[in-house]
Amino acid sequence: MSETKRAAIVTGGSRGIGQAVCLALAEQGVNVVVNYAGSAAAAEETAALCREKGVEAIAVQASVADAAQVDALFEKAVETFGKVDILVNNAGITKDNLIVRISEEDFDAVLDTNLKGAFLCCKKAARIMMRQRWGRIVNISSVVGLRGNPGQTNYSASKAGVIGLTKSLARELSSRHVTVNAVAPGFIDTDMTRVLPEAARTAILSQVPLGTFGQPEDVARAVAFFAAEESGYLTGQVLCVDGGMAM
Ligand code: NAP
Repeated sequence: MSETKRAAIVTGGSRGIGQAVCLALAEQGVNVVVNYAGSAAAAEETAALCREKGVEAIAVQASVADAAQVDALFEKAVETFGKVDILVNNAGITKDNLIVRISEEDFDAVLDTNLKGAFLCCKKAARIMMRQRWGRIVNISSVVGLRGNPGQTNYSASKAGVIGLTKSLARELSSRHVTVNAVAPGFIDTDMTRVLPEAARTAILSQVPLGTFGQPEDVARAVAFFAAEESGYLTGQVLCVDGGMAM
């Protein structure tokens, strides 16, 4: 068990933004629990890359949408590292469609992973961090949660919900030195956006003042900033990492 280093849980740490967040935290000397839903090999690979940076890291399968699995994830983290100092709620999915075509099932699936998942993990982390009188929670929202996007009513509702969750929880936990912030990425080059048709990618780029997609590392830097030891006077904030899209 490691007592000196900070310990983080990063949900959806196997790929994309989550993987970059795991590596950025490891770079800061933080031990990492790499959570994933189904990509065991990718999660093990992320954990191995973290260990190469001189920290301890384990991969743990759990769906954030399932309360019992979230309980088991936190139990494993505490059993391994003795604490949870940092929680990054990054796991997320899309099931895009126009509202007249979107099924109730697809609406629920996106809300269950993106919003209820963050809620379940925050609830577990809050208890631990309040006891520790120290904690950093960083929730991954999206510019789509701020400005909306046609074909993404479910996703945008979930990401707007994440901002409300962030601000309310920031107020609830402030007296215990637990900060809660959100990062709202714009369009980042990951599996999630690679599935978009070329026409959609071109249309998106025309809305980005800086004219390019962002990289997972751009978002990870912002997350690591909120998670840092020195960021204790920042709470309830939403930082857009979006090439200027939402301004
Ligand atoms: P991604 O490449 O599709 O990766 C998604 C990650 O979430 C994977 O690690 C996946 O695990 C995990 N995941 C999905 N459902 C899960 C569940 N129920 N329980 C636990 N983990 C689960 O996505 P990304 O682009 O990196 O996005 C990461 C976050 O940033 C998401 O919240 C997304 O909404 C947000 N975001 C992304 C963009 C963008 O442009 N890419 C923009 C704004 C916001 P497996 O590998 O095991 O499937």
